[in-house]
Amino acid sequence: MATSGGYNYRNGTQRSSLKVDRPLSVNSNPKAAVKSKSLPASGLRRNSTGSLGGVTGASKDDAGVLGRVRVAVRLRPRNSEELVADADFADCVELQPELKRLKLRKNNWDSDTFQFDEVLTEFASQKRVYEVVAKPVVESVLDGYNGTVMAYGQTGTGKTYTLGRLGEEDTAARGIMVRAMEDILADISLETDSVSVSYLQLYMETIQDLLDPANDNISIVEDPKTGDVSLPGASLIEIRDQQSFIELLRLGEAHRFAANTKLNTESSRSHAILMVHVKRCVKGRDPTLLNDTGNSSHMIKTLKPDVVRKGKLVVVDLAGSERIDKSGSEGHTLEEAKSINLSLSALGKCINALAENSAHVPVRDSKLTRLLRDSFGGTARTSLVITIGPSPRHRGETASTIMFGQRAMKVENMLKLKEEFDYKGLSRRLDIQLDKLIAEHERHQKAFEDEIQKVTIQAQNQTSEAERNYADALEKERQKYQKEYMESIKKLEEQLMMNQRNSGNEKVSNRPKDDGSNLISNKENLSIMKEVDELKEMLHKETLLRKAAEEEVSNLRSQVSQWKRAEAAGNSEILELRKMLEDETHKKEKLKEEIAILHSQLLQLSFEADETRRQLDRGGPGKVVGGIDSLMTQVRHPQLKDSGTEDKASIAKLFEQVGLQKILSLLEAEDADVRIHAVKVVANLAAEETNQEKIVEAGGLTSLLMLLQSSEDEIIHRVAAGAIANLAMNETNQELIMAQGGISMLSMTAANAEDPQTLRMVAGAIANLCGNDKLQTKLRGEGGVKALLGMVRCGHPDVLAQVARGIANFAKCESRASTQGTKSGRSLLIDDGALPWIVQNANNEASTIRRHIELALCHLAQHEVNAKDMISGGALWELVRISRDCSREDIRTLAHRTLTSSPAFQAELRRLRIDF
Ligand code: ADP
Ligand code: MG
Repeated sequence: MATSGGYNYRNGTQRSSLKVDRPLSVNSNPKAAVKSKSLPASGLRRNSTGSLGGVTGASKDDAGVLGRVRVAVRLRPRNSEELVADADFADCVELQPELKRLKLRKNNWDSDTFQFDEVLTEFASQKRVYEVVAKPVVESVLDGYNGTVMAYGQTGTGKTYTLGRLGEEDTAARGIMVRAMEDILADISLETDSVSVSYLQLYMETIQDLLDPANDNISIVEDPKTGDVSLPGASLIEIRDQQSFIELLRLGEAHRFAANTKLNTESSRSHAILMVHVKRCVKGRDPTLLNDTGNSSHMIKTLKPDVVRKGKLVVVDLAGSERIDKSGSEGHTLEEAKSINLSLSALGKCINALAENSAHVPVRDSKLTRLLRDSFGGTARTSLVITIGPSPRHRGETASTIMFGQRAMKVENMLKLKEEFDYKGLSRRLDIQLDKLIAEHERHQKAFEDEIQKVTIQAQNQTSEAERNYADALEKERQKYQKEYMESIKKLEEQLMMNQRNSGNEKVSNRPKDDGSNLISNKENLSIMKEVDELKEMLHKETLLRKAAEEEVSNLRSQVSQWKRAEAAGNSEILELRKMLEDETHKKEKLKEEIAILHSQLLQLSFEADETRRQLDRGGPGKVVGGIDSLMTQVRHPQLKDSGTEDKASIAKLFEQVGLQKILSLLEAEDADVRIHAVKVVANLAAEETNQEKIVEAGGLTSLLMLLQSSEDEIIHRVAAGAIANLAMNETNQELIMAQGGISMLSMTAANAEDPQTLRMVAGAIANLCGNDKLQTKLRGEGGVKALLGMVRCGHPDVLAQVARGIANFAKCESRASTQGTKSGRSLLIDDGALPWIVQNANNEASTIRRHIELALCHLAQHEVNAKDMISGGALWELVRISRDCSREDIRTLAHRTLTSSPAFQAELRRLRIDF
């Protein structure tokens, strides 16, 4: 680690061999070096005046920029007491702000001189202090770096005045926290970016959430790969305006006051830590996008995730730097005194080690140093303000504060940009696009089918009408000619008959007179000839008629063939339409393939997003919502608001657009990927309390339970169980789960699962059910307790914590029932063989497991029927230990009270000669 830093003067002579301080860089921002590489187009931020934060090193590579910890000293004006008591004495320090020097008087004629990055006199305004100390850090945070502003000094020298003043009565008095948030809110866009805060207190190596004081044992999680630290248990509240931030600070302050009163300590003994997470979306950062000439496909564009920059600002109001009196005069035992001092002295040791470039930096020695590992020797930009008072009576403390500041000036950090791709956002966008495509395709298909049907019906109507017309005409013609023909035949026959009759008469009358008959027969011949002529004419007429009929027939024939041709044309049109239908079907197949590709890309992305999130969960700032792990966080802290409000909002939007029924129906989809995706969406929705009722109403709970039974897929089991665990937070749902045989499905899932995360979800769900007084007997009867105990085989601490929680819940309800007289006899937990595991884990090193078990033991011990088993199972020893060693006073007292009020325990203790 490079050394830089100030001169070290004594009596005005440069004494140290340290390097001469480089002039402060003109540019106060580390990003200047980085940005000029990666974002040539973007403008540089305006420099802050009189900046503390010059960049002392050049950018080595894209990985980071050197940035030394900057240190300012601030002198508090004399207070009224000092004005009287020190009236005859000079201040113990003399400031030379223009030279950035401070002289510490040793006596009337001798003093030591020290150089700082900034020297702030008793007249320095709060605005100036903010601009010099904090503004450059805030600007870096807005650009995606981590930043720290910290105040160190003796109690009463103005740390809280500098950092925490709200300035409601006097705007000019506003401190660094308020001004920093003002600058942040002014710079971000509420549509694309987000700001969320956590506010914590660290006292005696315990971290308490100042926004939710009941949450008083928050653990620090470190990502082994990136070294990032996070506090997944802390409330993370999204800030949208300055007023709500001020209210949050006021709330935190009130909680801090109440907590300190309860613990009988002063706030000067605790460290207050404000964490501000700034998440900004940087669009078009990807170089392939910058080169995009506009002809690359839409698909490629939509597949590019946005870049998100995540800066974290940590503001630390440290405990007073004065040593705590170990003699106990402040009412502390020696052990307490050690614990109270631990974090601050560990910080001093780490800074010494870093300043001296020593190989080992004892970061892990305290919670404070673990929390601040990025601030000193890490990747953050850090500003320290050391506060001192003027009184010569506190010269010793003032000198030690100054030395702390001097050492901190030698600490070098390597500033790094915190940015990553926003896969979640991309996945949301793709989801919406996919649904739009599906809907459009469905509309096209319907319209096409309607058109085909219309054309077919039209063609059929035309053909049948033509056929009908043709048949009618033909029939009419046929009947007409048949009638005419019959009439002619009839006429001819009549004629013939008449002729025959006439000729017969003539033969009879002519026979006797053979002579003179020639004249008559000549007459007859004439009339016959005439008749023959008439007949001939008639025949000719008939022939003509027949010809006309034949013509008519051929006319009709040609008409028929015309109709036939029309029909053939209709048929070919139908053929063409058929072909079009085939084409459309083909196109539909293609669309389906495209959708399948989109699905798989989506899956890949959601997998990557899961991965990223999992990494973040291990090390990212605060909580990440939307993933499976967060579901369990929700189970544990349902009252928390989340960093992922934005994610939820867009899931809710998706939910409105797509409709719950459709999402639920996808749970039964054929395609396994779709099913997984759907169950994830449902799980995300179920994480939101407002959606839970709708999901249950729409049958989502039943579908999720069915999935546990029907699916073989571990991911589905894990996600579905997580969703059920979330739904199981509400009493009505708990009853529904039980009524639908949920316990046996959860037990079966637990029995078959290998993945600890699946087991954690299942255990979490059962643990929630265990907390319902009405379901105790049924739950146990269906094997719930056994299933819970079966899961300890996995050994994963997260699973064990859920099992322990379930047992504690069960024991609590059971104890309540016994007290109310609705239950008698030995505890069902003991019946089901839980006691050995309880005893074995009562002193588990993981506090989450231990606390639950301790509570469970106290509940069990309250009922004399359990005493015999507890004594023989070794639980008495654990109770004695809890009553003596448990760090939580309420549990300690409960255990003690239980032991003293139980005759059986008392007798055993007497027998063992244990004084109690
Ligand atoms: P600390 O947090 O270091 O214990 P405080 O911020 O509570 O100290 O300050 C102690 C007292 O001194 C408070 O009454 C505060 O108003 C006053 N004070 C501190 N610094 C200044 C300052 N620069 N100007 C005026 N008053 C100050
Ligand atoms: Mg203070």
